[in-house]
Amino acid sequence: MDTLIKLKFVVAGAIYENELLAPYTSFKIGGPAKYFAVIDSAKDLLKLVNEADKLKLPYLILGSGTNILFSDNGFNGLVIKMNNSKIKIKDETLEGEAGVLLSKAVGSALASGLSGLEWAVGIPGTIGGAICNNAGAYGGDLAQIIKEVEIVRNHKIRRINNKKCAFTYRSSIFKNKDHQDVILSAIFNLKRGDKNAIKSKMDEIILKRKQKADSYPSVGSVFKNFKLTAKEMEEFIIRHPDFPQDFIQHNTIPAAWLIESCGLKGQTIGGAMVSEKQAGWIINLGQATAENVIMLISVIKQQVRFKFNLQLVEEIEYKGF
Ligand SMILES: Cc1cc2nc3c(=O)[nH]c(=O)nc-3n(C[C@H](O)[C@H](O)[C@H](O)COP(=O)(O)OP(=O)(O)OC[C@H]3O[C@@H](n4cnc5c(N)ncnc54)[C@H](O)[C@@H]3O)c2cc1C
Repeated sequence: MDTLIKLKFVVAGAIYENELLAPYTSFKIGGPAKYFAVIDSAKDLLKLVNEADKLKLPYLILGSGTNILFSDNGFNGLVIKMNNSKIKIKDETLEGEAGVLLSKAVGSALASGLSGLEWAVGIPGTIGGAICNNAGAYGGDLAQIIKEVEIVRNHKIRRINNKKCAFTYRSSIFKNKDHQDVILSAIFNLKRGDKNAIKSKMDEIILKRKQKADSYPSVGSVFKNFKLTAKEMEEFIIRHPDFPQDFIQHNTIPAAWLIESCGLKGQTIGGAMVSEKQAGWIINLGQATAENVIMLISVIKQQVRFKFNLQLVEEIEYKGF
């Protein structure tokens, strides 16, 4: 039996061969996946992962593809798109399956008068992807509200608590390549709040996001910001007295500020360009390849290193390279 038939044999959901990945990402970049499955139940996921391991077929999990750059050659294995999408509110908790859009969780929290997810308004992607990345904005992140996460590890379903997720800035145990955990669902701890106050906080954030967003396809911020100690920040300001006062109190050097200071806004390679609106973003002008993006990233890193002696680190992930 060939691999596609074997995979189709074990799950009820759709499985395709040589499926182009670009349309499944916000960057609209990426070649084909050898195999591509859409999964909407834990039972199917377990069966599929068992079969992939039996066939020694590498696999990766895909949410909404808003933080991934796929190679132009695609992924020579199985891409599993999580499409499980149940969501439930109980008392002051929200339980959502991995394929639920974060925006849906934000909307449900608001509708139920639960506070704790306001910061997440406007962040694209799924709950699974957000947990993996410890997504965050405006002072909040997933690490602050996750109670527990249900995962598949070593072919068994387990529940792990917040501490075991090992959340750090834009990372978690799930980003660690040694683990092939699949997030099935999660429980968020929220607090009863005033609906109007929650809504106005969200409106305020939506407005701020709109002002800096670029409408071309992108993956948002390409690089992580630098978190410095107070002493490191002091030293940085001595060397760069033009550093804006606003950032000093957070001991953060935004990657966007470094890139803009290098005069890189609008820098273009092929179809990839440093956004004119938001220097931390690379946008796809229409025909960008992964190679264009990688080359542009390399130019940015070189110039920032040259001017500031700082090594930018990617927030996005490369897959299939
Ligand atoms: C316009 C724009 C704005 C953005 N703004 C922000 C922001 O403000 N803050 C922020 O933190 N991010 C931001 N992002 C980045 C991105 O939206 C988030 O990181 C998001 O949480 C990724 O979710 P996703 O479903 O798209 O994950 P994907 O990109 O599909 O995957 C990301 C990682 O998660 C893994 N993964 C996905 N689902 C699972 C699962 N079920 N089990 C195990 N692993 C899984 C993938 O394998 C991959 O390693 C932005 C992106 C865009 C395009």
